[in-house]
Amino acid sequence: CGIVGYIGKRQADELIIKGLERLEYRGYDSAGIAIMNDTLTIHKKAGKVKALRKLIKEEDTSGTLGIGHTRWATHGEPNDTNAHPHTGNSGRLALVHNGIIENYAVLKSALIAEGHSFSSATDTEVLVHLIEEIQKEGNLPLEEAVRLALGRVEGAYAIAVIDRDNPDVMVGARKQSPLVVGIGEGEYFIGSDASPFLDSTKRVVYLEDNQIATISLAKGLQLKNTDNEDQPPFIQTLDMQ
Ligand code: GLU
Repeated sequence: CGIVGYIGKRQADELIIKGLERLEYRGYDSAGIAIMNDTLTIHKKAGKVKALRKLIKEEDTSGTLGIGHTRWATHGEPNDTNAHPHTGNSGRLALVHNGIIENYAVLKSALIAEGHSFSSATDTEVLVHLIEEIQKEGNLPLEEAVRLALGRVEGAYAIAVIDRDNPDVMVGARKQSPLVVGIGEGEYFIGSDASPFLDSTKRVVYLEDNQIATISLAKGLQLKNTDNEDQPPFIQTLDMQ
């Protein structure tokens, strides 16, 4: 339902949680966050963002890269396990998703046959196992593994993904579900809309269908389509309060 991501120099946790609160108007049943520091940690909970705040109060969520999600369940009941972010079997990835993966059942059976075990009842979890499986086959950059995975997926999605083994990159992609990148001063945001980060920047790039955004502080924002063609980002400055 709602996606927020941050990469920059500030602490990501509070920016993401505040962003999730600004997306609460969309309605949701669960909330979660993944933060990168020495390791990649996921915290998620059924209920309000307030419950997530309480859950992480005593936890170390320091770090300058992270993603968050408010879920509106379509596949799998609203509970802590089905909340996003999701991860695969190695724990190196965290992924949030809006939308529906139509062919999740066939992908799931194939991944189980390849040795993956699933912990949730969501359609979303197949995405993260699929990316992980593709990464296992070759030493690919995160964005390339995401691109190859999306080529095997049918359905609608906006996603954000981070990877412990590529700890300076955040990848986002969209097809039939909105995703926008916010460009700040030495920092970037991802959102399902711009409201989570409008007080930090009004410079935005709305992703088009089949576009993949690779964001790092070293290389900035790079866009390509699922056919692996580079695309120039169209940067807009929003005129709103
Ligand atoms: N289909 C996914 C799920 O049920 C994502 C739902 C959403 O857009 O929040 O977990």
